[in-house]
Amino acid sequence: RAKSRGKDRYELYSEQLTSDAVQSFSVEQDLRQALQEHQLVLHYQPQYRLDDDRLCGLEALVRWQHPERGLLGPDQFIPLAEETQLIVPLGWQVIEQACQQMSRWLEQGLDVPLVAINISPHQLLQADFIPRLNALADGFGLERKRIELEITESMIQQDPDFVIQQLQRLRLSGYHLALDDFGTGFSSLDRLKYLPLNRLKIDKSFTRDIGRNPKDEAVILTVIALGRSLGVEVLAEGVETEKQRDFLKTHQCNSMQGFLMGKPVPAELVRL
Ligand code: C2E
Ligand code: MG
Ligand code: MG
Ligand code: MG
Repeated sequence: RAKSRGKDRYELYSEQLTSDAVQSFSVEQDLRQALQEHQLVLHYQPQYRLDDDRLCGLEALVRWQHPERGLLGPDQFIPLAEETQLIVPLGWQVIEQACQQMSRWLEQGLDVPLVAINISPHQLLQADFIPRLNALADGFGLERKRIELEITESMIQQDPDFVIQQLQRLRLSGYHLALDDFGTGFSSLDRLKYLPLNRLKIDKSFTRDIGRNPKDEAVILTVIALGRSLGVEVLAEGVETEKQRDFLKTHQCNSMQGFLMGKPVPAELVRL
């Protein structure tokens, strides 16, 4: 009895595995098609300075306009794209769309300070990443300081020396660099000093508990102080309430981003 139950369980498990594998295979096919048919779209979320409430940037966030499943968020396909290396061509589509949109806004006389683009480790590890990025930026007539690349702490674990070298080259080429989701990746503070960053983005998990958890507040104050002493701007993500904004303003965080000021929206709905 125990034996047969064990066997049933095993079969259930292996069926589950098979169907997951089949499903991820078909999503992979779908994603390939999405790239060919340009089903990826960007939404933009505004970032504001805390001292004068001025717009200081727009973050580009990718969505997949799936023909049957509707609009999918990045959490539903970026992990698969990373596993399958499709993140590389996907990443280029994102960069190209963001640069094109930015140049449209500037042509229309709208003063968009910068567009922030999320970059995966695989992209940065491509030998031709920087020359291709330069060619795109130049092709759209964009000053490089109008492009901010967002990287995460985990990226630095892959091949630290090469990644740090790439980041230094990018910075020397004039791009802005931001460290996203800061505080969630256990990066060593020692390494932080070698990263040529313009901004630290405090992860929204800390912002969420302002006014509720003194430990999160303590982390935020420490990151603000760290940014100041390293000469790096600090942006808080995930600002949803007035209370959070007031706290950040009182403690002289430089900028903020979150649903309180604006959700990510298609380019034509961005208020500039
Ligand atoms: P992220 O770069 O940290 O982006 C911030 C995420 O927080 C976005 O989710 C945004 O919609 C959400 N958010 C913004 N304000 C608030 C708020 O006030 N409250 C809450 N609860 N959430 C807020 P989204 O668009 O689903 O993106 C999720 C993640 O997917 C991004 O996190 C980023 O890591 C990744 N991602 C997005 N676009 C791209 C891309 O083009 N390439 C790559 N490699 N990754 C991307
Ligand atoms: Mg980001
Ligand atoms: Mg983030
Ligand atoms: Mg994130």
